[in-house]
Amino acid sequence: MKILVLNSGSSSLKFQLFLKDDLSVLASGLIEQIGDASSAAQLWFIDTSGIKQQRRQNDPVADHRAAIKVMSTMLQESGTLVDMGELAGIGHRVVHGGEAFQQPTFIDASVIAAIEELIPLAPLHNPANLMGIRVTMEHAPQTPQVAVFDTAFHQSIPEHAYLYALPYALYEQHKVRRYGFHGTSHSYVARQAALYLERPMEELHIITLHLGNGASAAAIKGGECIDTSMGMTPLEGLVMGTRCGDLDPAILFYLGRECGLDMAALDALLNKESGLKGICGENDMRTISEAAEQGDAPAKLALTIFCYRLKKYIGTYMAALGGVDCIVFTGGIGENSAIVRQLSCQGMERLGIVLDGEKNSMRQEEILEIQATGSQVSLLVIATDEEHEIASQTLQVII
Ligand code: ADP
Repeated sequence: MKILVLNSGSSSLKFQLFLKDDLSVLASGLIEQIGDASSAAQLWFIDTSGIKQQRRQNDPVADHRAAIKVMSTMLQESGTLVDMGELAGIGHRVVHGGEAFQQPTFIDASVIAAIEELIPLAPLHNPANLMGIRVTMEHAPQTPQVAVFDTAFHQSIPEHAYLYALPYALYEQHKVRRYGFHGTSHSYVARQAALYLERPMEELHIITLHLGNGASAAAIKGGECIDTSMGMTPLEGLVMGTRCGDLDPAILFYLGRECGLDMAALDALLNKESGLKGICGENDMRTISEAAEQGDAPAKLALTIFCYRLKKYIGTYMAALGGVDCIVFTGGIGENSAIVRQLSCQGMERLGIVLDGEKNSMRQEEILEIQATGSQVSLLVIATDEEHEIASQTLQVII
């Protein structure tokens, strides 16, 4: 039997097919620009001789229903999934589970209704996730389907850390609180770290840094998340590709008054025009690091601000945890950028964090250990695998 994992976005569908027994990957694919004439579907799969193959299709894909059909046909033609009957379960990534979902959850009509109710908290993501769920349920009505929420891992955060210092009624009536995101990735890399260190999760204090286009930090005590940097929305916290992260909220009033920006303009400014892009005009960390190395001043500044914010969060979470055993770097930037890892750990020797420059510049497929001999804190680079984690959580629900 097999497990299918789906990540349904507003104009894209990502999927990965796993063998149920060992969760090895049989195929993975991506359909982009759904609803557009330029839509394209790509599939990578392991053929019967164990060789990796790639297929591409450029026929227009009108909507998500058509996308699910294209996915089924491509999987069928690749020989990796003959029919939906081979699926033991389908796992869906769902961005916002609010306070309703603390665990991966078997999807039925009441779960769909609850995800729908949470749309105001994630207006861009939850409708797209729901579309994927509904269409898949029509396509494979007999297959158990499971929702895995980005917010679920953070539901263990205590009240004093998830509440903002706003009138309490806003929490009671409008659910204004910290939820946190990237939970699937934080929980996956924390578990991998404990396995690697050969120590029980229960005794470990871990800080996980998921640094991609979106970026967040989490403080994990004995396997439970006690704080995270993203808030009610994914805008708070670290500096990101195009998002500002932490900000004095009064800047919004000032910009409204002085520059006449309305809500929509402020929303676009903070989410799409800020972060690394706002500082240096570029949001790709690879390009920024290369430019910084060649002496480009705005790129250097963007890199410095990014790493300084990261360092402040490491310090904050060391205080929240009462000391840290291990810091994990993950996500496209965390896994690949030696300079970000170096700058964000620099000058923390008195806190027990000592990075080894040589180890930090090495590359490794799985887990790279980058602390110097004598460092009290383990520093690990771990490749995240959200699809694998969704498959594994799906399996926990269906068996
Ligand atoms: P997403 O949040 O979209 O999943 P990723 O986790 O793929 O994003 O991370 C994307 C980021 O990782 C980009 O800023 C990209 O520049 C950065 N990145 C990828 N490879 C490298 C590299 N070799 N050096 C520095 N940054 C890198």
